[in-house]
Amino acid sequence: MENNERKDPALFEHVWILAEQMDGHVHPVSIELIGEGRKLADQIGKKVCVVLAGYQLEEVADKLLHYPVDTVYYLDHPLLKDYNTDAYALAMSQLIQEKMPEIVLVGATSIGRDLGPRIAAKVGSGLTADCTKLDIDPEDGKLLQTRPAFGGNLMATIVCPKSRPQMSTVRPGVMEKAKYSEQCLGEVVRVTPQLRAEDLRTQLLERVDLGRKRVNLIDAKVIVSGGRGLKTPEGFALIQELADALKGEVGSSRAAVDAGWIDHSHQVGQTGTTVHPDLYVACGISGAIQHQAGMHESKYIVAINKDPEAPIFQICDYGIVGDLYEVIPEFLKSLEGKHFLDL
Ligand SMILES: Cc1cc2nc3c(=O)[nH]c(=O)nc-3n(C[C@H](O)[C@H](O)[C@H](O)COP(=O)(O)OP(=O)(O)OC[C@H]3O[C@@H](n4cnc5c(N)ncnc54)[C@H](O)[C@@H]3O)c2cc1C
Repeated sequence: MENNERKDPALFEHVWILAEQMDGHVHPVSIELIGEGRKLADQIGKKVCVVLAGYQLEEVADKLLHYPVDTVYYLDHPLLKDYNTDAYALAMSQLIQEKMPEIVLVGATSIGRDLGPRIAAKVGSGLTADCTKLDIDPEDGKLLQTRPAFGGNLMATIVCPKSRPQMSTVRPGVMEKAKYSEQCLGEVVRVTPQLRAEDLRTQLLERVDLGRKRVNLIDAKVIVSGGRGLKTPEGFALIQELADALKGEVGSSRAAVDAGWIDHSHQVGQTGTTVHPDLYVACGISGAIQHQAGMHESKYIVAINKDPEAPIFQICDYGIVGDLYEVIPEFLKSLEGKHFLDL
């Protein structure tokens, strides 16, 4: 296959989103990327195209047209029924080689992080991983890809000067979702990729449900998070109690995850989930820059910490200096009999 590296960047056009689906359910990050892709495409006067890979998903492809999309390329093949790294990377890179998009956006989910770099390597381009901001350089129309660097201590903006497409994975929960519309103006183009079972090195034999409670931090309106200040894993029972009283989800700092007190799916921050709830309550969390990176856009931040110098107090709306084991029970007492909406 010819390498895109050797082609003139001017030949590449349009903004592509590689949609993610499982059993026909489109991952929310794909809708966020359509919203962001539309903004970028409008700035450079280009189209937004979504690539959906799967098998017998015509209805899903049609549904995607209700978002601001010009074309949905629907890669339909039995070998694409379940996610398979080789099959998806092959099918998508074939289409990219053929149609030559200028920008390709992928969600920085487990699947996107697996798929994006493989496609970039196959098409001879680079990839900026885990972007939190995208923009277009007004001077030359190149994609400005911003992501935390050096352990989150600074934000780096990366450009891809020569190779095309310009590829990024983007963190879920950071970009605004595209709006659903009753009207659909675009079209679905069905494509049958060239795939053979013998080209795939892995095969899905079975799916095992680990029975873990799913945490939905991205859509949560209220998050109560605990950190190392809890001192013990049992401390999360108190955090859960407050979260239940406020009808929220439980979050955590990385220190609590690293200590094995709570599953990584609860981690907020640069290497966890980016959240923007209406209310974020940080309990026994110092507010390291990497934690802030995932929660500083919360509407209201409440911090409970014994150390008045803790950095979390610099970004919170309401700060309580005190022992969380004294403050939270008082908090719970004051909430007794109250409905969350009364807050
Ligand atoms: C590349 C990289 C990525 C990272 N990604 C993340 C990330 O995604 N998310 C994340 O959170 N961190 C991340 N970190 C780690 C981060 O730098 C911090 O180490 C971590 O956030 C600290 O967690 P903490 O606030 O719970 O612990 P600490 O910093 O130890 O803070 C504990 C706080 O609890 C307070 N406290 C103690 N006892 C009590 C009490 N009884 N009542 C009230 N307060 C009390 C203390 O005063 C202190 O402020 C990352 C680091 C690196 C280098």
